[in-house]
Amino acid sequence: MDLTLYNSLTRRKEAVAPIEPGHLRLYACGPTVYGPAHIGNARMAVVFDLLVRVARALFPRVTYVSNITDVDDKIIAAARASGEDIAAITEKYTLIYNEDMAALGCAPPDVQPRATAHIGDMVALVQGLLDRGHAYAADGHVLFHVPSYAGYGALSGRSREEQVAGARVEVAPYKRDPADFVLWKPAAPDEPGWDSPWGRGRPGWHIECSAMSQHHLGLPFDIHGGGSDLKFPHHENEIAQSCCAHGVLDDPATYARMWVHNGFVTVAGEKMAKSVGNILLAHDLLRAHEGAALRLALLSAHYRQPLDWTDGTLHAAAKNLAALRRAATEPGEVPTPVLGALCDDLNTPAAISEALRAAKAGDGAGVAATMDLMGLDRAAPKEAADPRIDALLQERQAARAAKDFARADAIRDQLAAEGVTIEDTPAGPRWQRSR
Ligand SMILES: [Zn+2]
Repeated sequence: MDLTLYNSLTRRKEAVAPIEPGHLRLYACGPTVYGPAHIGNARMAVVFDLLVRVARALFPRVTYVSNITDVDDKIIAAARASGEDIAAITEKYTLIYNEDMAALGCAPPDVQPRATAHIGDMVALVQGLLDRGHAYAADGHVLFHVPSYAGYGALSGRSREEQVAGARVEVAPYKRDPADFVLWKPAAPDEPGWDSPWGRGRPGWHIECSAMSQHHLGLPFDIHGGGSDLKFPHHENEIAQSCCAHGVLDDPATYARMWVHNGFVTVAGEKMAKSVGNILLAHDLLRAHEGAALRLALLSAHYRQPLDWTDGTLHAAAKNLAALRRAATEPGEVPTPVLGALCDDLNTPAAISEALRAAKAGDGAGVAATMDLMGLDRAAPKEAADPRIDALLQERQAARAAKDFARADAIRDQLAAEGVTIEDTPAGPRWQRSR
């Protein structure tokens, strides 16, 4: 069966055909590790993990690279704010990220490069851009000169005016053009920095991914992925850097052939934002809910569509997960309609309905094989999900929302009498049996 994916670069669905026969090579932009991942970051990890699983079922060899950005202004700011050592912060949040993604059923990438381990690659790329006249050094910085690359804007479809408006405009007298972006910047003595031909400094964010993907996959590679918010400027800049560093000005696909972008996660219809206070952390959700249910919820919308996260999303996913688990037997073949849906641009809503249909039809072997393919743990955790307790907790939430505190307390007391304690977390109430 052919796997087709929507290629953001060509704006159409295309069959995935590895450039190196039988070997699919993918790169997805990983997290900047200065805090725990939110549910939007988790969606990226789950979507690309699923893509890799489907690809492994179809191609003899798959190499999946997803990086860790461990040098960044935000990390330096977090270290200043907390007084912690930068390495301690990045180490801690890399670990938390990997644990949380594992709990969501994500297999570790084949390679998880850290930016700080590839500074030499980045310096070489920057030097190549200077040598070919696509970059200039000014005031301790090295900048990419956007007007030097006519192909700029091919991925995002942004016009010159939109590019300038979208660039993070800062007061930067050393910029020759407002759209120019930083490849290398000077580091203050108390900031992490590396010696370079342009003085002690550190890389800009965009050059990291150009360097790490090339190092671990070679160019061109098959699929580059990430959240749709990275399309501009991050991915546009990666293409510009990588194509210009190798002197290929007429074909953006000589960096990565296909670009795959997943949509946003909104919470109850609103964009997640610190100012709104509605940022859902994967780590908090995992304390309250089972990873497999969260994974199924994250896959319940098509990956290119926005996913609106509500209690209903999670409730439906937990119910579907339970139905699949009840039906699953020893794994056999993935039912053709399930594989067909997944191969059709990862149509997970259709794949999930087909799996539920197989469950109803008594195809336990097909359901089990589907769960394995989609990375859904077939075994219920020891602290089994309990729909009755979940229903009582939902009723308690509703009572509290309606300021019926007598009813809410009565539910809490009833559960306490059964040995079930409730903990209210930012992601909702979590329960556990204390005896
Ligand atoms: Zn990236």
